[in-house]
Amino acid sequence: MQGNLNVQTENIFPVIKKFLYSDHEIFLRELVSNAVDATQKLKALSSRGEFKGEMGDLTIEVKIEKKKLIISDRGIGMTQEEIDKYINQIAFSGVNDFLDKYKDVQENLIGHFGLGFYSAFMVADKVEIVTKSWKDAPAMHWSCDGSPEFDMKEGKKKDRGTDIILHIADDCKEFLEEQRILELLKKYCRFMPVAIRFGEESEWVDSETEFEEVDDGNGGKTKRPKRVEKKVPRIINDTDPAWKKAPSSLTDEDYKKFYHELYPMNFEDPLFQIHLNVDYPFNLTGILYFPKVRKTIDPNRNKIQLYCNQVFVTDSVEGVVPEYLMLLHGVLDSPDIPLNVSRSYLQSDSNVKKIAQHISKKVADKLEEMSKAESEKRKAESDADASDGSQPSAFNTQLEEKWDDIKIFVEYGMLTEEKFCERAMKFALLKNTEGQYFKLDDYRDKIKALQTDKDKNVIYLYATDVDEQHAYIAKAKEKGYDVLLMDSVLNSHYINLLEQKNEKTRFVRVDGDTVERLIAHDDNIPEKLSQEEKDKLKPIIENEVDKARFTVQLESMESDDQPMVITQNEFMRRYKEMSQTSGGGMGFYGEMPDSYNLVVNINHPLIEQVLKEQDADKQKQLVHQLTDLALLSNGLLKGEALTQFIKRSVEMI
Ligand code: ADP
Repeated sequence: MQGNLNVQTENIFPVIKKFLYSDHEIFLRELVSNAVDATQKLKALSSRGEFKGEMGDLTIEVKIEKKKLIISDRGIGMTQEEIDKYINQIAFSGVNDFLDKYKDVQENLIGHFGLGFYSAFMVADKVEIVTKSWKDAPAMHWSCDGSPEFDMKEGKKKDRGTDIILHIADDCKEFLEEQRILELLKKYCRFMPVAIRFGEESEWVDSETEFEEVDDGNGGKTKRPKRVEKKVPRIINDTDPAWKKAPSSLTDEDYKKFYHELYPMNFEDPLFQIHLNVDYPFNLTGILYFPKVRKTIDPNRNKIQLYCNQVFVTDSVEGVVPEYLMLLHGVLDSPDIPLNVSRSYLQSDSNVKKIAQHISKKVADKLEEMSKAESEKRKAESDADASDGSQPSAFNTQLEEKWDDIKIFVEYGMLTEEKFCERAMKFALLKNTEGQYFKLDDYRDKIKALQTDKDKNVIYLYATDVDEQHAYIAKAKEKGYDVLLMDSVLNSHYINLLEQKNEKTRFVRVDGDTVERLIAHDDNIPEKLSQEEKDKLKPIIENEVDKARFTVQLESMESDDQPMVITQNEFMRRYKEMSQTSGGGMGFYGEMPDSYNLVVNINHPLIEQVLKEQDADKQKQLVHQLTDLALLSNGLLKGEALTQFIKRSVEMI
């Protein structure tokens, strides 16, 4: 029988080719998943007792034969009526519908929709279907050379199942290369639920017929079977991936093993994982791993993979996964994510929204659970300690131990997701420069007494670099203050958030001001210099510093404090940092040069000495030495200036 495919224009195939040009390769996914479906259907018929025969070996086979690529299954096969119905008529209702349906395809996810069987024509100039149904019906042979005409006649196939034979087009020869096909099978079919065979691989086994002589370890010789290479069928997929299993049946080791199966090039273990398993109101399974990411984030590696019933769809999951969780690794599998739509549509889809919310909630649940377990453990420990009178032991519990690695997710999540933020306020941790961790509320309680200023603001002091800001940290600690270590890339944004979320809260970097003024209490230190003396002192010092970078500021400080200190305005610095990490929006701040305050302690004896010095050269030298010392303790004295300073110091000694 010959006929016309039910299409309205002359030829659909150039359209298919053009539209899908960049993603030819998905034809293999489409054809192999059809083979998987046909096999699954047979299994279902068999378990319902409708199919009573032998199922036999159901392995799907992909093979390359000269200029043909063949996909064979042992599934249900098709009768003549079925080919007519599913291939000849339904598969394509017409170019116009096609264009309508995929209007916005080009701009985004080309290839994420099931073009199904007809995607074969993206790579083949002739396609044959050789099939025999499980029903008692003659075998069929269908072929089509890419024009709307097809040919269908009875075939000779004896056993049940379907062979799809692609005569690969000249411009698609890559699909006749073993390596290319292997790569595609590994990409799209790696976790499909029916075994897929492609060629053979080598296995080294003991020979049954050949032996070799080896030393027996006691000076004699012994015979043992020779190791020989044996060719075995190469099965390219894992039909029962971890995410499909019951969480209770898996150990941590199993999860780690699966992680390395997913990302063979990543040698580091994940920190922990969340196993997703929902079937109402949407269907979603998967495993999300928290990887070890410190400061370097490489979003292009090890991305989350999206599957639809174990068929790989994509590894760009924007919209499906909340943005802050895009740095996670793992797999998501859901038949409820519409795949044949544009990204903007995807993001407005209600299922997708629910899925994203669900994922976010699960992540918060997991972190909260870890945090609770930690508090309980701590409480149990301190109860035990109280009863035996011993010192509380130092221990590292789950969330604390992992905090440095996961804080970036949590901070990012808090910054971008209102709901997550609310929940995270309960488990987010702050770490101080001594390496202790505190929940937000606990920390406030800890510092409240000493670190509340005269306006009732609680001042959180922090350092971003323990070594560089060492002198300032030490000063603050001398006063009994606690100093946080805040060194994440999102710091300035995160600090702003915490200030917004907590009333009467201010963060100040330890070098943001002199220790007296970091937390302004009411007690002013009396000034030793008169206004006249101060007016005289200021220009003497200003003459010695780069005025574009430094503002000289006279302060009344303790006489045993440093004579000069360099500070950097908290807000200027933070805005500058924020504009650097957020790219645009705050360009003005980003382009400003670094500017500092040179704070002069007018109560210090050396400053008095500067003022009293009559010899202009000696006065200059003294000021220079003092400013250099201040710069040095701030890590700002470098190169030539540093060399000069050392030379001058030696001379003065
Ligand atoms: P879809 O798979 O999305 O339904 P296709 O165009 O890929 O669309 O296939 C159309 C129909 O043809 C399938 O639903 C199925 O009934 C039938 N079919 C395709 N491939 C096979 C196969 N290997 N074995 C049996 N039936 C098949």
